Amino acid sequence: MENYKVIKALGQGTWGVVHMAEQKSTGRIVAIKKIKSTRPEEGINFTAVREIKLLREFKHENIIELVECFTTSDLAVNLVYECAHTDLEKIINNREIKLSMADIKQHMWSLLRAVEACHNRFILHRDLKPDNCLFLKDGTMKLADFGLARMYGTPKTRLSPEAITLWYKPCEMLLGATEYSAAADMWSVGCIFAELLLRRPFLKGHETDLSQLDEIFTMTGTPTENNWPGFSTLPLVSRGLTWDPIPPTPFDDVFPAAPKDAISLLRSIIILDPNERFTAAQSLNHPYFMNDPPPTPKSGLNLG
Ligand code: AMP
Repeated sequence: MENYKVIKALGQGTWGVVHMAEQKSTGRIVAIKKIKSTRPEEGINFTAVREIKLLREFKHENIIELVECFTTSDLAVNLVYECAHTDLEKIINNREIKLSMADIKQHMWSLLRAVEACHNRFILHRDLKPDNCLFLKDGTMKLADFGLARMYGTPKTRLSPEAITLWYKPCEMLLGATEYSAAADMWSVGCIFAELLLRRPFLKGHETDLSQLDEIFTMTGTPTENNWPGFSTLPLVSRGLTWDPIPPTPFDDVFPAAPKDAISLLRSIIILDPNERFTAAQSLNHPYFMNDPPPTPKSGLNLG
Protein backbone atom coordinates (compact mmCIF):
# COMPACT_ATOMS: atom_id res chain seq x y z
CA MET A 1 0.00 0.00 0.00
CA GLU A 2 3.04 2.26 0.43
CA ASN A 3 3.00 3.01 -3.33
CA TYR A 4 -0.43 4.62 -3.03
CA LYS A 5 -2.00 7.56 -1.24
CA VAL A 6 -5.65 6.87 -0.39
CA ILE A 7 -7.93 9.76 -1.35
CA LYS A 8 -11.43 8.57 -0.41
CA ALA A 9 -13.76 5.58 -0.21
CA LEU A 10 -15.70 4.96 -3.44
CA GLY A 11 -18.04 2.23 -2.31
CA GLN A 12 -18.58 -1.16 -0.83
CA GLY A 13 -18.96 -4.22 -3.04
CA THR A 14 -19.90 -7.79 -2.19
CA TRP A 15 -16.28 -8.73 -1.69
CA GLY A 16 -14.69 -5.66 -0.24
CA VAL A 17 -14.30 -1.94 -0.02
CA VAL A 18 -13.13 0.20 -2.96
CA HIS A 19 -10.96 3.32 -2.48
CA MET A 20 -9.82 6.05 -4.82
CA ALA A 21 -6.05 6.45 -4.51
CA GLU A 22 -3.10 8.16 -6.17
CA GLN A 23 -0.18 6.12 -7.43
CA LYS A 24 2.72 8.06 -5.84
CA SER A 25 5.27 7.39 -8.61
CA THR A 26 3.03 8.52 -11.49
CA GLY A 27 0.28 10.66 -9.94
CA ARG A 28 -2.23 8.37 -11.67
CA ILE A 29 -5.63 8.18 -9.97
CA VAL A 30 -6.76 4.58 -9.51
CA ALA A 31 -9.47 2.57 -7.73
CA ILE A 32 -8.25 -0.09 -5.30
CA LYS A 33 -10.57 -2.95 -4.40
CA LYS A 34 -9.45 -4.70 -1.22
CA ILE A 35 -10.72 -8.25 -1.07
CA LYS A 36 -10.31 -9.78 2.36
CA SER A 37 -9.73 -13.47 2.74
CA THR A 38 -12.90 -15.00 4.16
CA ARG A 39 -11.01 -18.00 5.55
CA PRO A 40 -7.36 -17.17 6.10
CA GLU A 41 -6.44 -20.87 6.38
CA GLU A 42 -7.57 -21.32 2.77
CA GLY A 43 -5.35 -18.56 1.41
CA ILE A 44 -6.48 -15.71 -0.80
CA ASN A 45 -10.11 -15.22 -1.84
CA PHE A 46 -11.12 -17.24 -4.92
CA THR A 47 -13.14 -14.44 -6.52
CA ALA A 48 -10.02 -12.31 -6.47
CA VAL A 49 -8.01 -15.04 -8.14
CA ARG A 50 -10.75 -15.47 -10.75
CA GLU A 51 -10.84 -11.76 -11.50
CA ILE A 52 -7.05 -11.51 -11.72
CA LYS A 53 -6.79 -14.54 -14.01
CA LEU A 54 -9.39 -13.20 -16.40
CA LEU A 55 -8.49 -9.53 -16.45
CA ARG A 56 -4.70 -9.88 -16.60
CA GLU A 57 -3.59 -9.34 -20.18
CA PHE A 58 -7.20 -8.54 -21.22
CA LYS A 59 -6.81 -5.14 -22.83
CA HIS A 60 -9.88 -3.75 -24.56
CA GLU A 61 -11.24 -0.25 -24.92
CA ASN A 62 -14.46 -1.22 -23.13
CA ILE A 63 -13.11 -3.55 -20.42
CA ILE A 64 -11.81 -2.13 -17.14
CA GLU A 65 -8.02 -2.20 -16.95
CA LEU A 66 -6.46 -4.10 -14.07
CA VAL A 67 -3.36 -1.99 -13.45
CA GLU A 68 -1.75 -4.30 -10.89
CA CYS A 69 -2.52 -6.38 -7.83
CA PHE A 70 -0.72 -6.93 -4.57
CA THR A 71 -1.36 -8.69 -1.29
CA THR A 72 -1.08 -7.19 2.15
CA SER A 73 0.00 -8.91 5.36
CA ASP A 74 -3.65 -9.64 6.35
CA LEU A 75 -3.87 -11.89 3.23
CA ALA A 76 -6.16 -9.33 1.55
CA VAL A 77 -5.77 -9.05 -2.20
CA ASN A 78 -5.74 -5.50 -3.51
CA LEU A 79 -6.87 -5.09 -7.11
CA VAL A 80 -5.82 -1.79 -8.67
CA TYR A 81 -8.02 -0.58 -11.55
CA GLU A 82 -8.22 2.50 -13.66
CA CYS A 83 -10.62 4.82 -11.84
CA ALA A 84 -14.11 5.40 -13.19
CA HIS A 85 -16.15 8.58 -12.85
CA THR A 86 -19.64 7.05 -12.75
CA ASP A 87 -21.69 4.04 -13.83
CA LEU A 88 -24.77 3.36 -15.95
CA GLU A 89 -27.07 2.81 -12.97
CA LYS A 90 -26.27 6.28 -11.65
CA ILE A 91 -26.85 7.75 -15.12
CA ILE A 92 -30.21 5.97 -15.52
CA ASN A 93 -31.33 7.12 -12.05
CA ASN A 94 -30.18 10.73 -12.45
CA ARG A 95 -33.30 12.58 -13.62
CA GLU A 96 -31.21 15.60 -14.59
CA ILE A 97 -29.55 13.59 -17.34
CA LYS A 98 -31.51 13.37 -20.58
CA LEU A 99 -30.90 10.05 -22.33
CA SER A 100 -31.47 10.56 -26.04
CA MET A 101 -31.93 7.70 -28.52
CA ALA A 102 -28.42 8.55 -29.83
CA ASP A 103 -26.96 8.29 -26.29
CA ILE A 104 -28.64 4.90 -25.80
CA LYS A 105 -27.15 3.73 -29.10
CA GLN A 106 -23.66 4.71 -27.93
CA HIS A 107 -24.14 2.89 -24.61
CA MET A 108 -25.41 -0.25 -26.34
CA TRP A 109 -22.55 -0.19 -28.88
CA SER A 110 -19.95 0.00 -26.08
CA LEU A 111 -21.66 -2.67 -23.99
CA LEU A 112 -21.99 -5.07 -26.92
CA ARG A 113 -18.36 -4.51 -27.95
CA ALA A 114 -17.26 -5.38 -24.40
CA VAL A 115 -19.47 -8.47 -24.26
CA GLU A 116 -18.33 -9.57 -27.73
CA ALA A 117 -14.69 -9.27 -26.58
CA CYS A 118 -15.43 -11.45 -23.52
CA HIS A 119 -17.27 -14.08 -25.54
CA ASN A 120 -14.53 -14.16 -28.19
CA ARG A 121 -12.22 -15.20 -25.34
CA PHE A 122 -14.74 -17.72 -23.99
CA ILE A 123 -15.32 -15.60 -20.90
CA LEU A 124 -18.84 -15.37 -19.48
CA HIS A 125 -19.29 -12.26 -17.37
CA ARG A 126 -22.34 -13.63 -15.50
CA ASP A 127 -23.20 -10.41 -13.71
CA LEU A 128 -24.08 -7.88 -16.39
CA LYS A 129 -26.15 -5.02 -14.96
CA PRO A 130 -26.06 -1.22 -15.20
CA ASP A 131 -23.92 -0.76 -12.05
CA ASN A 132 -21.15 -2.88 -13.59
CA CYS A 133 -20.95 -0.61 -16.65
CA LEU A 134 -18.51 2.06 -15.49
CA PHE A 135 -17.58 5.27 -17.34
CA LEU A 136 -14.29 7.10 -17.50
CA LYS A 137 -14.42 10.91 -17.47
CA ASP A 138 -13.97 10.95 -21.27
CA GLY A 139 -17.21 8.96 -21.73
CA THR A 140 -15.62 5.55 -22.43
CA MET A 141 -17.71 2.72 -21.02
CA LYS A 142 -15.71 0.08 -19.15
CA LEU A 143 -17.24 -3.24 -18.21
CA ALA A 144 -16.18 -4.14 -14.67
CA ASP A 145 -16.63 -6.63 -11.83
CA PHE A 146 -15.41 -9.94 -13.20
CA GLY A 147 -15.71 -11.57 -9.76
CA LEU A 148 -18.38 -13.97 -11.00
CA ALA A 149 -16.93 -14.46 -14.49
CA ARG A 150 -16.06 -17.92 -15.72
CA MET A 151 -14.40 -19.56 -18.68
CA TYR A 152 -16.69 -21.73 -20.80
CA GLY A 153 -16.29 -23.86 -23.85
CA THR A 154 -16.66 -27.36 -25.19
CA PRO A 155 -17.25 -29.82 -23.66
CA LYS A 156 -19.91 -27.73 -21.96
CA THR A 157 -18.87 -26.86 -18.44
CA ARG A 158 -21.38 -27.34 -15.66
CA LEU A 159 -21.99 -23.93 -14.19
CA SER A 160 -23.88 -22.90 -11.08
CA PRO A 161 -27.30 -21.42 -11.86
CA GLU A 162 -26.83 -19.06 -8.90
CA ALA A 163 -24.83 -16.32 -10.67
CA ILE A 164 -26.39 -13.10 -12.10
CA THR A 165 -28.51 -10.56 -10.26
CA LEU A 166 -32.21 -11.54 -10.35
CA TRP A 167 -33.63 -8.85 -12.68
CA TYR A 168 -31.00 -9.60 -15.35
CA LYS A 169 -31.14 -13.38 -15.05
CA PRO A 170 -32.27 -15.44 -18.07
CA CYS A 171 -35.11 -17.93 -18.01
CA GLU A 172 -32.81 -20.94 -18.63
CA MET A 173 -30.89 -20.18 -15.43
CA LEU A 174 -34.07 -19.54 -13.46
CA LEU A 175 -35.28 -22.96 -14.62
CA GLY A 176 -32.11 -24.57 -13.31
CA ALA A 177 -30.01 -25.03 -16.47
CA THR A 178 -26.37 -25.76 -15.71
CA GLU A 179 -25.17 -25.73 -19.30
CA TYR A 180 -25.94 -22.14 -20.13
CA SER A 181 -23.43 -20.14 -22.09
CA ALA A 182 -22.85 -16.81 -23.84
CA ALA A 183 -26.58 -16.43 -24.50
CA ALA A 184 -27.11 -16.00 -20.74
CA ASP A 185 -25.03 -12.80 -20.80
CA MET A 186 -26.99 -11.65 -23.85
CA TRP A 187 -30.26 -11.90 -21.92
CA SER A 188 -28.78 -9.49 -19.37
CA VAL A 189 -27.70 -7.20 -22.23
CA GLY A 190 -31.30 -7.20 -23.49
CA CYS A 191 -32.56 -6.26 -20.01
CA ILE A 192 -30.07 -3.36 -19.88
CA PHE A 193 -31.17 -2.18 -23.35
CA ALA A 194 -34.83 -2.26 -22.28
CA GLU A 195 -33.95 -0.42 -19.05
CA LEU A 196 -32.24 2.35 -21.04
CA LEU A 197 -35.36 2.73 -23.20
CA LEU A 198 -37.76 2.66 -20.23
CA ARG A 199 -35.54 4.38 -17.71
CA ARG A 200 -36.57 1.83 -15.10
CA PRO A 201 -35.76 -1.87 -14.62
CA PHE A 202 -37.46 -3.99 -17.29
CA LEU A 203 -38.27 -7.27 -15.51
CA LYS A 204 -38.46 -6.48 -11.84
CA GLY A 205 -39.16 -9.74 -10.01
CA HIS A 206 -39.70 -9.73 -6.28
CA GLU A 207 -36.81 -11.58 -4.65
CA THR A 208 -37.66 -15.10 -5.81
CA ASP A 209 -36.80 -16.95 -9.00
CA LEU A 210 -40.46 -17.86 -9.51
CA SER A 211 -41.54 -14.24 -9.31
CA GLN A 212 -38.82 -13.37 -11.84
CA LEU A 213 -40.07 -16.12 -14.18
CA ASP A 214 -43.61 -14.67 -13.90
CA GLU A 215 -42.28 -11.23 -14.89
CA ILE A 216 -40.46 -12.73 -17.87
CA PHE A 217 -43.38 -14.84 -19.11
CA THR A 218 -45.80 -11.91 -18.81
CA MET A 219 -43.55 -10.19 -21.34
CA THR A 220 -42.50 -13.08 -23.60
CA GLY A 221 -45.46 -15.41 -23.19
CA THR A 222 -45.07 -18.83 -21.60
CA PRO A 223 -42.53 -21.26 -23.06
CA THR A 224 -43.64 -24.26 -25.08
CA GLU A 225 -41.74 -27.02 -26.88
CA ASN A 226 -42.61 -25.03 -30.02
CA ASN A 227 -41.02 -21.70 -29.12
CA TRP A 228 -38.26 -23.30 -27.03
CA PRO A 229 -37.42 -26.85 -28.07
CA GLY A 230 -35.98 -28.79 -25.14
CA PHE A 231 -37.32 -26.47 -22.45
CA SER A 232 -39.32 -29.26 -20.80
CA THR A 233 -36.09 -31.11 -19.97
CA LEU A 234 -34.83 -28.24 -17.78
CA PRO A 235 -34.63 -29.26 -14.10
CA LEU A 236 -37.53 -27.23 -12.71
CA VAL A 237 -39.85 -28.11 -15.60
CA SER A 238 -39.06 -31.82 -15.55
CA ARG A 239 -39.79 -31.78 -11.83
CA GLY A 240 -43.34 -30.67 -12.64
CA LEU A 241 -43.44 -26.85 -12.57
CA THR A 242 -46.15 -25.59 -14.99
CA TRP A 243 -47.68 -22.27 -16.02
CA ASP A 244 -51.09 -21.35 -17.38
CA PRO A 245 -50.49 -20.35 -21.01
CA ILE A 246 -50.27 -16.60 -21.57
CA PRO A 247 -49.56 -14.75 -24.84
CA PRO A 248 -46.60 -12.35 -25.24
CA THR A 249 -47.07 -8.62 -24.57
CA PRO A 250 -46.45 -6.60 -27.78
CA PHE A 251 -43.16 -4.70 -27.37
CA ASP A 252 -44.70 -1.71 -29.21
CA ASP A 253 -47.04 -1.32 -26.22
CA VAL A 254 -44.21 -1.59 -23.67
CA PHE A 255 -41.85 0.79 -25.52
CA PRO A 256 -44.19 3.28 -27.25
CA ALA A 257 -41.45 5.91 -27.69
CA ALA A 258 -38.75 3.56 -29.02
CA PRO A 259 -37.85 3.52 -32.72
CA LYS A 260 -38.80 0.43 -34.76
CA ASP A 261 -35.18 -0.67 -35.30
CA ALA A 262 -34.44 -0.56 -31.54
CA ILE A 263 -37.49 -2.72 -30.86
CA SER A 264 -36.46 -5.11 -33.62
CA LEU A 265 -33.01 -5.59 -32.05
CA LEU A 266 -34.48 -5.95 -28.57
CA ARG A 267 -36.90 -8.59 -29.87
CA SER A 268 -33.94 -10.56 -31.24
CA ILE A 269 -32.25 -10.58 -27.83
CA ILE A 270 -35.18 -11.02 -25.42
CA ILE A 271 -35.92 -14.53 -26.71
CA LEU A 272 -36.69 -17.45 -24.40
CA ASP A 273 -34.73 -20.08 -26.38
CA PRO A 274 -31.02 -19.33 -25.77
CA ASN A 275 -30.15 -20.98 -29.10
CA GLU A 276 -32.29 -18.42 -30.94
CA ARG A 277 -31.10 -15.39 -28.98
CA PHE A 278 -28.85 -12.97 -30.91
CA THR A 279 -25.14 -13.09 -30.10
CA ALA A 280 -23.16 -9.92 -29.39
CA ALA A 281 -21.65 -10.08 -32.90
CA GLN A 282 -25.08 -10.45 -34.55
CA SER A 283 -26.42 -7.56 -32.48
CA LEU A 284 -23.53 -5.27 -33.51
CA ASN A 285 -24.41 -6.03 -37.15
CA HIS A 286 -28.11 -5.18 -36.69
CA PRO A 287 -29.34 -2.24 -38.87
CA TYR A 288 -30.14 -0.36 -35.62
CA PHE A 289 -26.47 0.67 -35.42
CA MET A 290 -26.31 1.76 -39.08
CA ASN A 291 -29.56 3.77 -39.08
CA ASP A 292 -30.07 7.36 -37.96
CA PRO A 293 -29.53 8.80 -35.44
CA PRO A 294 -25.81 7.91 -35.27
CA PRO A 295 -24.54 7.14 -31.75
CA THR A 296 -23.57 10.21 -29.70
CA PRO A 297 -19.76 10.50 -29.71
CA LYS A 298 -18.54 9.49 -26.25
CA SER A 299 -17.18 13.00 -25.62
CA GLY A 300 -20.73 14.32 -26.08
CA LEU A 301 -22.34 12.07 -23.45
CA ASN A 302 -23.76 13.71 -20.32
CA LEU A 303 -22.34 11.68 -17.41
CA GLY A 304 -23.71 13.93 -14.69
P1 AMP B 1 -17.79 -3.66 -6.74
O1 AMP B 1 -17.12 -4.47 -5.66
O2 AMP B 1 -17.11 -3.84 -8.07
O3 AMP B 1 -19.27 -3.88 -6.80
O4 AMP B 1 -17.58 -2.12 -6.37
C1 AMP B 1 -18.09 -1.48 -5.22
C2 AMP B 1 -18.24 0.01 -5.45
O5 AMP B 1 -17.01 0.59 -5.86
C3 AMP B 1 -19.25 0.35 -6.53
O6 AMP B 1 -20.10 1.32 -6.03
C4 AMP B 1 -18.47 0.88 -7.68
O7 AMP B 1 -19.13 1.98 -8.27
C5 AMP B 1 -17.15 1.32 -7.05
N1 AMP B 1 -16.07 0.95 -8.00
C6 AMP B 1 -15.68 -0.30 -8.33
N2 AMP B 1 -14.70 -0.28 -9.24
C7 AMP B 1 -14.45 1.02 -9.50
C8 AMP B 1 -13.56 1.71 -10.40
N3 AMP B 1 -12.70 1.06 -11.19
N4 AMP B 1 -13.60 3.06 -10.40
C9 AMP B 1 -14.48 3.73 -9.60
N5 AMP B 1 -15.35 3.15 -8.78
C10 AMP B 1 -15.35 1.81 -8.72
